[in-house]
Amino acid sequence: METTTNRMHQNRAADAHAMHMAFDNSYARELKGLYVEWKPAGSPAPRLLQLNRSLAAELGLDASELASADGLAVLAGNAVPALAQPLAQAYAGHQFGGYSPQLGDGRALLLGELIDRQSRRRDVALKGSGRTPFSRRGDGLAALRPVLREYLMGEAMHVLGIPTTRALAAVATGATVRRDRLLPGGILTRVAASHLRVGTFEFVAAKRDEALLRRLADYAIARHDPALADEPDKYLGFLQNVVERQASLVARWMGVGFIHGVMNTDNMTVSGETIDYGPCAFVEHFDPQAVFSSIDTEGRYAYGNQPAMAQWNLARFAEALLPLIDTDSKRAAERASAAVQDFAQRFDAHWTAVLRAKLGLSDSHASDRTLSDEYLQLLQAHRIDFTLGFRRLSDAAAEGDAPLLALFGAAAPALQPWLQGWRLRAPAVGGPERAAAMRQVNPIYIPRNHQVEAALTAAVDRDDMAPFERLLAVLEHPFEERAPDAAFAQPASAEATACHRTFCGT
Ligand code: AMP
Ligand code: MG
Repeated sequence: METTTNRMHQNRAADAHAMHMAFDNSYARELKGLYVEWKPAGSPAPRLLQLNRSLAAELGLDASELASADGLAVLAGNAVPALAQPLAQAYAGHQFGGYSPQLGDGRALLLGELIDRQSRRRDVALKGSGRTPFSRRGDGLAALRPVLREYLMGEAMHVLGIPTTRALAAVATGATVRRDRLLPGGILTRVAASHLRVGTFEFVAAKRDEALLRRLADYAIARHDPALADEPDKYLGFLQNVVERQASLVARWMGVGFIHGVMNTDNMTVSGETIDYGPCAFVEHFDPQAVFSSIDTEGRYAYGNQPAMAQWNLARFAEALLPLIDTDSKRAAERASAAVQDFAQRFDAHWTAVLRAKLGLSDSHASDRTLSDEYLQLLQAHRIDFTLGFRRLSDAAAEGDAPLLALFGAAAPALQPWLQGWRLRAPAVGGPERAAAMRQVNPIYIPRNHQVEAALTAAVDRDDMAPFERLLAVLEHPFEERAPDAAFAQPASAEATACHRTFCGT
């Protein structure tokens, strides 16, 4: 039955007209053996729910053409542009610590690559586009709700200045997806610097095909670290760069209270972009143990565990690269291991810089981490909202302490000695310039779980995209406080937060 449906839609995909898109497909050209050419299954009654016009412009695409019937046909998997070469990528991955040798795009297809207005090569992929040879027992589909969730989260992270894949479009397919109940289906069009994952390298390493591994690494270097291409030690350099990008990324996540939720090695890019917004969430009252994912029962990917888990994943990445790093296996292991060990220092440097900026400290001082750690401890001990804790501190740099003290409520006396220390550390605290600088890094609006869920419910259950669009509009300017948007800055009630669970984007 399912195959018949897919075949029917596939025919449609082949027959329909498609808009012109200037795809250039280096992955397909250079990495044979790491993908299967495949067509999207197609959507019975697609509707364009969301189109990212500014991203379309970045990609040199005409937004009105994308929104036309021909454009929608592409975004819904009903038509394949002439220059696209849709394929399902192969990859492996460690999921919650256990190795799966064969994952791959089970419900996604890379359409191809576009060179954007800034000459950057960007992947354009469909997610939720039907079964592929990698689907295992899955249906190859995505429910609309997680599609819209990924759209919103990616955009929010992007404007917060955090490297991330982004959504070009969200489509309602008109098909029904069976989960614990029947749900409307969706397709996300995702744009990424690449979809090369740690798991891609694990997949190749497990085949023990050194030539293919070298081809993959050379491809990744050309795409993400072209300056290394002619270096004698380029594979070690590549490992070091990936370690550095992940150290920076995780520090930035933590700086906005972001919890990825499912940091499996197949969900970690070598580009350093955040990928696969499934059971992710932003922490509300500060707690390093915070976990929102219903499947992360052990707290493996809790807020405060993210650096350790990133390093664990990087160790898997280093193992995959070993044959390229040195012909002497002992030396290869030593060098790779040193690069992975370096993560700790690199992360610490990024995290310290993030915290310094959040506290408005423009120079550095040996005691800065003590000062920031004490503030985090205060937030934790008194269950203060992480986002507002730093935002009201920013306000306190210029406009007095009242809003910050109000946020702390009964715990305000416990904050006073720390506030004095903060002002002693940086006597200039108190200037509007410092407040302005702090407000550039301490957002007032983040995707709050209850707001996100309400917007998704309106979109999916009531066909009302207005709350989604309103929330997206608020999140697009996260650093600038606006009176009419006050409700969007408010944390959920404590009970709502305690119950909040996000499910894998299935
Ligand atoms: P994710 O949890 O989305 O990162 O996916 C992990 C792996 O499961 C990837 O190989 C996905 O392609 C695959 N997968 C997830 N959901 C589905 C689905 N509904 N159908 C087929 N494969 C899926
Ligand atoms: Mg994934």
